[in-house]
Amino acid sequence: MFARQAQERIWPKGEPGGVPDRGADGSPGRNCEPISVKPTVGAFMDYDRFFADSVDALRAEGRYRVFADLERVAGQFPRARRHVNGQVQTVDVWCSNDYLGMGQHPAVTGAMTEAIAAHGAGAGGTRNISGTAHVHVQLEAELAALHSREAALIFTSGYIANVTTLGTLAARLPAAIVYSDGYNHNSLIEGMRWSRVEKRIFRHNDAAHLDALMAADDPARPKIVVFESVYSMDGDIAPIADLCDVADRHGALTYLDEVHAVGMYGPGGAGVAARDGVGHRPAVIQGTLGKAFGVVGGYIAGSASLIDFVRSFGNAFIFTTALPPAIAAGALAAVRHLRNSDVERERHQERATTVKQRLAAAGLPVMNSASHIVPVMVGDARLCKLASDRLLDHFGIYVQPINYPTVARGTERLRITPTPLHDDAAVDRLIAALGSVWEDLKLGRSQAA
Ligand code: PLP
Repeated sequence: MFARQAQERIWPKGEPGGVPDRGADGSPGRNCEPISVKPTVGAFMDYDRFFADSVDALRAEGRYRVFADLERVAGQFPRARRHVNGQVQTVDVWCSNDYLGMGQHPAVTGAMTEAIAAHGAGAGGTRNISGTAHVHVQLEAELAALHSREAALIFTSGYIANVTTLGTLAARLPAAIVYSDGYNHNSLIEGMRWSRVEKRIFRHNDAAHLDALMAADDPARPKIVVFESVYSMDGDIAPIADLCDVADRHGALTYLDEVHAVGMYGPGGAGVAARDGVGHRPAVIQGTLGKAFGVVGGYIAGSASLIDFVRSFGNAFIFTTALPPAIAAGALAAVRHLRNSDVERERHQERATTVKQRLAAAGLPVMNSASHIVPVMVGDARLCKLASDRLLDHFGIYVQPINYPTVARGTERLRITPTPLHDDAAVDRLIAALGSVWEDLKLGRSQAA
């Protein structure tokens, strides 16, 4: 468990997290961010000054976000072209969430190209008003089958799937209480926040703490337990069976975010719950079409009545233009491909294991991770950014720095995501570059060094 710093004020922002939650121990959750900027006020507020000062405060802390200007090249992933100062540099991308490289898979790109030619660009409306394409219906049926559920519902992103579903359930179940893992993603937290539901934060992956919190509440009130399967910044995995046991004992619905697991774990890519033999237990399985499935969009799978409820009451599902048919066609092709092919999953796990072993052997402080996510600890925001900049500018290795509030202060890190398409030569380049940067910046080494 990370140490958390005392803060006088908290402010919603960032990803994951972003709501002024407090940890169970009373400390600010990982999703809190202090604000020190005061608005400049005269007769009227100087808005631009306020915006610039706020951003300057981030810069001073070394956590101002700079986007790498990339051109992905189909067929060459994880190699990409980076545009910088009018020049083009070829880089190895080591931080993509296109975890299996499906974003360039011919089955996916082919399906999208064909769908554009056949059906045009946009859906032409909300799902209710002329925007439901046949491929949406097919994709929902495929996702329901993937998760062995009666029904599924697609959204414009995984983020919107979480905000809408959790927000709708929590707001409409009378006097509900939501129990949320302390490390839950911002989209889950925003769903709870939007619903104004009463909530309790249980310590990360701590079923006993969840049990204690639930035991203290009125057994008759509706309850929802919300957690993720793979936590994307540490790469650790939830004790899904234990959390479901506790939820069942207290008559709660379970809501499982499998965004960092679908496509990659379990039979046919059904996720970690399915891999662990408990895929049938969560009332809601939520996933994304934008990571292992390589496209964009999000979804939930569950009972027919629950899905119909969210379809009928979820505002951010109802009042928005449907996903373009070509997007749904690409996602459908990716889901179908990964339901029938283990090659990508096996190679993905092998690559992640290889990278972890190579990092450890080189004495680099790779964090213990039970998944494909490979975090390397730096422990300082400025140094983390500096290390990332050097890797990119000097070695053409792109790993985005992960700083507060995405992770707790003092645990800033490089989050490496090996894919099946990172070959041995790419791994060699990564290890050599990291070794050199660690040496130059005198960064901390692991015990193995
Ligand atoms: N849930 C978790 C745990 C995430 O990490 C993310 C995004 O990274 C999302 C949901 C949102 O998914 P999407 O990128 O499809 O909006």
